Amino acid sequence: MAKFVFVTGGVVSGLGKGITASSIGLLLKSRGYKVFMQKFDPYINVDPGTMSPYQHGEVFVTADGTETDLDLGHYERFIDEELNYTSNITTGKIYSSVIEKERRGDYLGATVQIVPHITNEIKNKVYEAAKSSGADVVITEIGGTIGDLESQAFIESLRQIRGELGINNTLFVHVTLVPYIYGSGELKTKPTQHSVAEMRGMGIQPDILVCRAPEMLSEGMREKLSLYCSVPKENIITAKDEKSIYQIPINLYEQKMDEIILKQFGMKINKIDLSTWNDLIKTVNSLDKEIEIALVGKYTGLHDAYLSVMEALTHAGYKYKVKVKINWVDSERLENENLDKVFKNTKGIIVPGGFGERGIKGMIMAIKYAREKNIPFLGICLGMQLAVIEFARDVCGIKDADSVEFNSMCENPVIDLMAEQKDIVNMGGTLRLGNYDCKIKKGTLAYDDYKSENIKERHRHRYEFNNKYKDVLEKNGMVFSGVNPESNLIEIIELPKHKHFIACQFHPEFKSRPVRCHPLFDSFIRESSK
Ligand code: GLN
Repeated sequence: MAKFVFVTGGVVSGLGKGITASSIGLLLKSRGYKVFMQKFDPYINVDPGTMSPYQHGEVFVTADGTETDLDLGHYERFIDEELNYTSNITTGKIYSSVIEKERRGDYLGATVQIVPHITNEIKNKVYEAAKSSGADVVITEIGGTIGDLESQAFIESLRQIRGELGINNTLFVHVTLVPYIYGSGELKTKPTQHSVAEMRGMGIQPDILVCRAPEMLSEGMREKLSLYCSVPKENIITAKDEKSIYQIPINLYEQKMDEIILKQFGMKINKIDLSTWNDLIKTVNSLDKEIEIALVGKYTGLHDAYLSVMEALTHAGYKYKVKVKINWVDSERLENENLDKVFKNTKGIIVPGGFGERGIKGMIMAIKYAREKNIPFLGICLGMQLAVIEFARDVCGIKDADSVEFNSMCENPVIDLMAEQKDIVNMGGTLRLGNYDCKIKKGTLAYDDYKSENIKERHRHRYEFNNKYKDVLEKNGMVFSGVNPESNLIEIIELPKHKHFIACQFHPEFKSRPVRCHPLFDSFIRESSK
């Protein structure tokens, strides 16, 4: 039977709960155990797919096409396992499923209540993840902060699971803040004490405290916290602020986090192999050169909106020993700016995914600039669609070429609504999502990158390249180097005459790993750092 680690957060959000959970996953995997991860999000949306990136950051997409919280990106990057629909559960998912059952008559005769019906549904999601993954350890992170009204049903379910399975099969990690107070020049444990007291009030005693702090907690502070919170001193771990998130697993390992967990579970403490990760940290700490990449989009005010893209750029930087500095270019403002000035130090331009009409003009200007000035360019999803529009307009002379997403009446829809999308009325979960095949043409940049004719990548879009325009664009020098073999949908385009100009309909950023960068980011950073 699987063992369960539950990760909760206290005091404030944004403490690195997701990174803590991911680090635990990495350490246990490095001890030879099969690990699976999931996140509970207490909001009522069924998934984050319908939320603005300004609210919630990027939507991460798993191989099976589930739209999920961005923490799942961290999980996959750390534990290097593919997650799925069992990995991200929201209040909305739980309630819709319970209400569906009620309507079907599954609870006939009963009054349907939060306890036990909602809590049973939540518990089933934990057990289902264990069963379908066959993992030795399932790590479940609870979104939000202890005390939030929204997360109470989730916390109550975990309390029940602890009751059912006992202390040797379940373990609670509470991630909390130990702030530094400048006036008195010291770290303060009181917020943590309150947060643990609140958890106890809900019937849960944490087993491990992970204290986010600017410096290591002293012995004295750990003793104090141990006394007030009833957590053994050695189980009080510091998550010290670090420049790179990839340092965190090593810091937790040095404080024996994984051993504490395995001991409580009565599992064997196998030899650990952290050599790959240690090499990565060495690289992270020894990047000598810096290159500037311009990221042109409309959500540049919130960097989380492009989290996986940023990570993928960083990973490719590790391979070429360069620190990637991002020049955040708000495409809406670009329209009134001097492009030579904006891109003065830029070595490569990337236009990532996005939705809607706002900011499109600026993105097209940036693409034109990259194409004409021979600056390495990578377009992703919307970025590919706009590269097509720019090329059709400025090179092929189709002046009114457009996407029906921005101009439903356009005469030359080089980007059109996908046929299977035409009758769709619901917006949630209905994009073309997840893994699809792509066949790559030999002798192209894409083939050089992937060194394979058959690949699979993850998607999230509603519009596609309109194949009616393939001939004319080809005649003018665009190469369609990747195509879906079943639907003929264009997956990759490139311009061979350019130094490095490539764009894809899918989202390569989701598959990049810190120790194995993605082929498209690899060549983009390689060319940009030349
Ligand atoms: N808005 C475009 C579409 O739906 C691109 C989507 C994206 O960039 N993820 O097709």
